Amino acid sequence: MTSPQRWTFGDVSMQRVIESETPLLSPFEIFPDCTQAHLDANRDWLVPRFQNAADGLLTITIQSFLLRRNGLTILVDSCSGNDKETRARPQFRHAQWPWLDRLAEAGVRPEDIDIVLCSHLHVDHVGWNTRLDNGRWVPTFPNARYLISQREWDYWQAVGAAGLQRAGDYITDSVLPVFESGQAELVGDEHAVAASISVEPAPGHTPGQMMVRLGSGREQAILSADLMHHPLQVRYPDWSTRFCADPVQARTTRRNFFNAHAGTGRLIFPAHFPSPTGGTIERDGTDFGFKFCGEEHACFGHRHG
Ligand SMILES: [Zn+2]
Repeated sequence: MTSPQRWTFGDVSMQRVIESETPLLSPFEIFPDCTQAHLDANRDWLVPRFQNAADGLLTITIQSFLLRRNGLTILVDSCSGNDKETRARPQFRHAQWPWLDRLAEAGVRPEDIDIVLCSHLHVDHVGWNTRLDNGRWVPTFPNARYLISQREWDYWQAVGAAGLQRAGDYITDSVLPVFESGQAELVGDEHAVAASISVEPAPGHTPGQMMVRLGSGREQAILSADLMHHPLQVRYPDWSTRFCADPVQARTTRRNFFNAHAGTGRLIFPAHFPSPTGGTIERDGTDFGFKFCGEEHACFGHRHG
């Protein structure tokens, strides 16, 4: 895999640390509103980059974002992790990803991470919070504080085992150990992590989901977590996923976000968009498009603009 590009927003540098980038989910599994007619109408831009021709699965990237500012090293989200047992989805069970090697390629050892910022507590965002050590799950980043939204944590405690049936119980092996080690730190909906790195709420997909805003002034970017999972949701902003805790709120949050950022040139990094992940939201009449960094046109809409 080619080494992902490095970005700078003000005094914050950012790199992606990819765990996997592969066709993963059926569009009909993730989007209840999706029909074959929708896919046929968008086939010219979807296939093969965003949808695999052979099996129709959507390409989903699972990655972390590594931030560095003035000696501070922050990891936003930690993918699905290795050696996990209690996972419903085969891709996440007993995995052996070379993710720590990729972190090392970025010049970072686990002990160098000062802060792990969990955008939300889903299975594909908390995996490397822990690693298996002599049969025990221990924090992968021994010197890190793990920032978790208070609202998010309250939700997962309230839903209990019922909320984990679909994915398997990842809370026990990937979240509880960082509480037991005293490294978890619960934060409010709007929290300044450091100068020019702050979180803001993006409720719906999960109640306490947080986006991360980087930089200041004109040099700003937003790590938008799972506000959208695939470019199809820019084409169809009303599509929430089957994995959204509150699909109606997720739709409202997404529409408000598109209206706020379309046409601003601000770089948006949705957690699961394929490489290069980052891009701008473009307005096309009443529709929206997504223009990936370094590309001349939005992948749909604004074709000739
Ligand atoms: Zn996710």
